[in-house]
Amino acid sequence: MASQNFQRAADILELKPDVRAMVLAPERVLTVSVPVKMDNGLITCFEGYRVQHNTTRGPAKGGIRFHPGVTLDEVKALATWMTWKCAVVDIPFGGGKGGVTCNPKKMSVAELERLTRRYTSAILPIIGPDRDIPAPDVYTNAQTMAWIMDTYSMTQGHLVQGVVTGKPIALGGSPGRNEATARGVFNTIECVSQHLKLKIKGSKVVVQGFGNAGSIVAHLLDGAQADVIAVSDSQGCIYDKNGLHIAKLMMHKERTGSVKDFPGSEPISPEELLALECDFLIPAALENSIDSHNAHSIRAKVIAEAANGPLTPEADAIVDAKGVFVIPDILCNAGGVTVSYFEWVQNTQHMAWDVNEVNSRLERVMHRSFAKVLEIHQERKVNMRTAAGVLAIDRVVEATMLRGLYP
Ligand code: NAD
Repeated sequence: MASQNFQRAADILELKPDVRAMVLAPERVLTVSVPVKMDNGLITCFEGYRVQHNTTRGPAKGGIRFHPGVTLDEVKALATWMTWKCAVVDIPFGGGKGGVTCNPKKMSVAELERLTRRYTSAILPIIGPDRDIPAPDVYTNAQTMAWIMDTYSMTQGHLVQGVVTGKPIALGGSPGRNEATARGVFNTIECVSQHLKLKIKGSKVVVQGFGNAGSIVAHLLDGAQADVIAVSDSQGCIYDKNGLHIAKLMMHKERTGSVKDFPGSEPISPEELLALECDFLIPAALENSIDSHNAHSIRAKVIAEAANGPLTPEADAIVDAKGVFVIPDILCNAGGVTVSYFEWVQNTQHMAWDVNEVNSRLERVMHRSFAKVLEIHQERKVNMRTAAGVLAIDRVVEATMLRGLYP
C-alpha cells in the first residue's frame, strides 16, 4: 500500500528510477538479539529491530512496537511511512521504526522492563537525541519510554531526556501529547470545513474506533457543537440520531470497557455504522478497516483518517469515484509526531511550554500543512492522498539533492 502511494506521487514528480530507488531504500537496518531472563529463571532470546529509513532532513523518528506479529519488513514499511509523515508537516525529522517480536500480554512488568532495557542497550549505538528518537507504538507506553531514557542516560553518565518522546510528564513529557493526534485531526477537519463550506456546528459525525484518538476527536467535535451520531469499538457499535453525549459516553467506556449498552443509544452493526449518512467519517481503529466490500456503502462527505492506512487501495479508488473528500493519514494524524517534536525541542532546550502554547503551535502546523497539500491537490489535479505524497517526497528529494552524495 505504502509503495503504491509512493509510486503514484513519484510519477507526478517525474522522479527518475535511480532517485526513486535511492529514497526508498532504508539507510540503516539493525537486527538484534535480545536475551531476557524470564521470571521462571530460564532465558528467552527475542529478536528486535531498529530501522532508520531516511535521516536527510533530521534524526530518525518513530515508535517501538512490542507485538508477536512484528517482522523486519513491517518495521521497514512503517519507518518509510514516518519519513513521509514528518516531511508533510515539515518537522526536521526523518523516518524510523523499531520493534521486538514478543507477546507483551504474556509477560510480567519485570520481564517487560528487562526486555526494554536489553533491547535499548542493543540499539544504543544508533539512537540518541541527534540520531534517532524512539516513541511509543503498539503495546509500548510512557513507562517503556522512561526505561529507555534511563538505560540510555546511565550509559552517558547524565540525564538525556531528548532520546525518546512520549515520556511521562514528570520526566520531561510534553503537555498535550496524549491528545495531540486527535487535536491534529480536529484541526484538519476545521480546514476542510472551511474549504468545502461545511459548518462543523450541526454537522453529523461517525467515529469508527472509540479509543485514544477516536474518543478525543469525538469530544473536540462535540465541543464544537457537531452531532456525533455513531461510534464503535472492538466490542460493538452504537447510534443516536440526535447525537451521543460524548462526555458521558467516555465515562461509560471507562467504567465498562466498551461503548456497548450506552444508555439511550441504539446498537447497530459495523456495516450499518459505515453506511450512515454523515458529514465526517473518522476511521480511528485499525488499518484496512475499509475495503472493497464496505467502501461502496459509504455516504460521508469527508473521511478524516485518524488511523494509519484505514482504506485499502481498492476502497480508496471507490470513495474517490464517489467524490468523497479524504484527508489522508500522513497529514490527518500527524499531530502526534508534531507534538513529539515539540517534546524533543523542549527537552533539548531545557524548557517547558504550557498546554496552550503546545496546542496553538500544533494548530499552526496542521493548518499550514493542510493548506500546502490542498494547493497541490488543486494545482496538480490529484487527490489529497497523492498530493500529500507529492509534498512529502518532494521535500525529501530536494534535501537529498541539495546535500549531494557523500563522498
Ligand atoms: P487505541 O487502541 O486507543 O484505540 C483503538 C480503538 O479501536 C479501540 O477502542 C478499539 O476497541 C477499536 N477497535 C479495534 N478494532 C475495531 C473494529 N474492528 N471496529 C471498531 N473499532 C475497533 O489506539 P489509538 O492510539 O487511538 O490509535 C488508533 C489508530 O490511530 C491506529 O491506527 C494508530 O496507528 C493511529 N494513530 C494513533 C496515534 C496516537 O498518537 N495515538 C498517532 C498516529 C496514528
